[in-house]
Amino acid sequence: MDFAFDAQTHEMCETIKDFARDRLVGPDAFDPDDFRRRWRLAGEQGALGTVVPGAYGGLGQGAVTAAAVMEALGYGCTDTGFVFSLGAHLFACLTPIVDFGTEEQKRQWLPPLCSGERIAAHGITEPEAGSDTLGMRTRAERHNDVYVLNGSKSFTTNAPVADVFVVQAVTRPGGGCFGLTSFIVEADTPGLTVGRCYEKTGLRGSPMADVHFDDCVVPAHRMLGPEGGGFGVFTTSMAWERTCLFALYLGTMRRTLEASIAHANERRQFGTAIGGFQAVSHRIVDMTLRLESARLVLYRAAWGLDRGSTDEVAPALAKLAVSEAAVQVGLDAVRIQGGLGVLHGQSETALRDALPARIFSGTNEIQKNNIARAMGLRGKPARRRK
Ligand SMILES: Cc1cc2nc3c(=O)[nH]c(=O)nc-3n(C[C@H](O)[C@H](O)[C@H](O)COP(=O)(O)OP(=O)(O)OC[C@H]3O[C@@H](n4cnc5c(N)ncnc54)[C@H](O)[C@@H]3O)c2cc1C
Repeated sequence: MDFAFDAQTHEMCETIKDFARDRLVGPDAFDPDDFRRRWRLAGEQGALGTVVPGAYGGLGQGAVTAAAVMEALGYGCTDTGFVFSLGAHLFACLTPIVDFGTEEQKRQWLPPLCSGERIAAHGITEPEAGSDTLGMRTRAERHNDVYVLNGSKSFTTNAPVADVFVVQAVTRPGGGCFGLTSFIVEADTPGLTVGRCYEKTGLRGSPMADVHFDDCVVPAHRMLGPEGGGFGVFTTSMAWERTCLFALYLGTMRRTLEASIAHANERRQFGTAIGGFQAVSHRIVDMTLRLESARLVLYRAAWGLDRGSTDEVAPALAKLAVSEAAVQVGLDAVRIQGGLGVLHGQSETALRDALPARIFSGTNEIQKNNIARAMGLRGKPARRRK
């Protein structure tokens, strides 16, 4: 076991951390023009294509390095929503194109998606099918050399600014895992419309909306992977997302922890720094323990991905460990700051940004169901869920 990054990864992360702190900070409210400006900067820096091979405009790095870069972005950039958008683009949209795309699809889509010229969004969740992925209703019906898509996706990150969507649709109703197919759909395709930008509690810098398909005609060559192979595309991209995207929260937790230590050393009550009270110092030790434990679980999962592991348990454990730690670290930070902690822009931000992490990429309850099933805990035959 080697717990240190190699010199190149270390140096890359230091550069990314400074870049994220100095160049990626955005306005308080979501602004599409500023979002795109920063997106291009992130592309120029290589952050949008860490795991994409160099031949297609990426950095050609593995999962451990990609996670380290996300951790550096999460630490450096206080707009966690922006970093989340970047991670959703890279791990839910670009990795499936790398893993399942044809040579033509890779050459067409990956370079502009890595450079920051274009933005991608991933649509699987639907109003009636959240955790129950296989209950989705969006249909893709084949007519000669085109598919016609009808249905709606909800909670689609990046939808309001996306140029291209990776979408899952049903090609064989009742076909279960083999009934889904993935498509690459350009945002300006007739029949595709994007709803209003959601207002969210956390990750406010990440735009999100519903996407509707109304007789949306997609050429068959835009199919990603084989017909009926959508579930495989989805599970592969989720393994990347549950591992590498969640690394951003390691960065946010570290930033929050450092701020909590500074506050505990500066704030004086009863004639002494509050960090001298065991109730406060032990809380900070617990925050450290949560962060470091989650960090080990996540990098262990990334290490597995780099070795071609198809184990679904390690990414699910990483998602669980990091998201639960991030929420608890946020709560602890608010308590350590006292009244200050609930003021806008203080520790409450870390807590608000952490809350959605329990939900996206499949809720934590669903992760536990999947892990339990993999451990042989089976009540009754169940359909596989997100
Ligand atoms: C910030 C954010 C970004 C997102 N981005 C995207 C995106 O880019 N693309 C996309 O497609 N989706 C996205 N989503 C949607 C996300 O994947 C879903 O919200 C999530 O899968 C849960 O679905 P749901 O909201 O319909 O909740 P439901 O499925 O309705 O679940 C509600 C509650 O019931 C519980 N539950 C449901 N079924 C079970 C069960 N079998 N056992 C135990 N508990 C269960 C859940 O754990 C949860 O607590 C995003 C969500 C958020 C919050």
